[in-house]
Amino acid sequence: MNIWVICGQVSFLILILFFLFFTLFNLLEKEKKAFIRSSIILSFLIVINLGFYMAVLPLKNLLFGSTGILFLVIFLILIISPRPKNEIQIIGLQKRIDERDAIFSRFDLKEGTKRFIEYYKQKPHFKKIDEKIRKFPDILSPTHIKKNPWLFSLSAAEFDFLEYQLSQVDGKINAKSRKLSPEKNTRMVKGLMKYLGADLCGICELDEAYVYSNVGRGPEFYGEEINLTHKYAIVFAVQMDFSLVASAPNSPVIVETAKKYVEAARISITMANCIRRLGHTARAHIAGSNYQAILPPLAWKAGLGELGRMGTLISWKYGPRVRLGLITTNIPILPDKSICFGVQNFCEKCLKCAHCCPSNAIPAGSKTEENGVLKWVLKREECYRFWCRVGTDCAICMYVCPYSKPDNIFHNVIRKMTSRSSAIQTLSVWSDDFFYGRRPKPRKGCLEF
Ligand code: SF4
Ligand code: SF4
Repeated sequence: MNIWVICGQVSFLILILFFLFFTLFNLLEKEKKAFIRSSIILSFLIVINLGFYMAVLPLKNLLFGSTGILFLVIFLILIISPRPKNEIQIIGLQKRIDERDAIFSRFDLKEGTKRFIEYYKQKPHFKKIDEKIRKFPDILSPTHIKKNPWLFSLSAAEFDFLEYQLSQVDGKINAKSRKLSPEKNTRMVKGLMKYLGADLCGICELDEAYVYSNVGRGPEFYGEEINLTHKYAIVFAVQMDFSLVASAPNSPVIVETAKKYVEAARISITMANCIRRLGHTARAHIAGSNYQAILPPLAWKAGLGELGRMGTLISWKYGPRVRLGLITTNIPILPDKSICFGVQNFCEKCLKCAHCCPSNAIPAGSKTEENGVLKWVLKREECYRFWCRVGTDCAICMYVCPYSKPDNIFHNVIRKMTSRSSAIQTLSVWSDDFFYGRRPKPRKGCLEF
């Protein structure tokens, strides 16, 4: 039998197996649209393949042979296409950011108070946009709670729980310091973080540029200078449940966000306490107004992922579908290196988050410079304005991002392939739109019992 005929038959077999697995995974993941479309393609492939087998010679050889050549050419194009390797570019000086300018700090200010009046006197450029946003009821306000009393109350309770933990983030250090090697400390930190529930964990040196300059929220005094001199940052992530994220922008997503912040707080407070018991300084940084540093760039430095178009961390396994946590410390540990798996190139082609963002907060154009970094700059106020409109943290961008797909063998193979070839990235962007939809609809019925 001709080599091209065998090649054609093998190509069909591989394609049929691929679509069989894809259809099964779509069924398991309750992806209705993708399931219907992949089933149709699978049936079509089986029918064509049977048709080829039933053809008479030499037509049969001609059909399989030409299919073999076609697939081999496509395969070679996909394989020899250049590896996507654009990295995040730091092109200038990075200044420390004042936490008082962060959007949550601005919206913590109570109208009419001395602090409120003074802030907007000093920063008048924020006044107009903030006034517009203040016309909407805030996230988790009674207006929104009425829409789903149980779920909004649950997330409010989770955020209350975080507030109760604020006094636990730092504490007494054991006078007797345990001197263990950095290698041993690193292994123990990473192993125990995983044991405590962190899905990803990395270490980097604490770059001063990512430490806030002044307190904007939290138990410390408002406006106080932040003097965080720890040498290392232990950055970790806990993944969010895909089906709950897929309900975005409805109430289950904020329940899941708050739940994962609570988990991150438990992990970071426990580990920081453990390190202090070993006689080294350590501070946990938790959600609910307690961060002294900016987490996404530290997570990038610690090798947890890259920063994508939507401005958040895109991790290898879970994409942006994570919540981050941080411990800063002086215990001797070994930093990791940042990683590059093609996110910058993928985001240039994809733009799905920008198209789906209901507030046009995610830029659809090219990168611009902000504080010394070349990046896609999120319009934070527009994003927050939408949060106030829906009463949740929206997360539509997180849901639709192709990197957010569940962590399973099928999607991990796709992740691996997209990191290797620019052409596979293009095919993957196109396939994601075709199978899951350019604007996927939110899933209903999550957390309804
Ligand atoms: S959270 Fe929602 S509003 Fe904000 S950037 Fe993402 S999609 Fe846009
Ligand atoms: S949705 Fe697409 S463009 Fe947006 S962050 Fe994810 S991969 Fe990048």
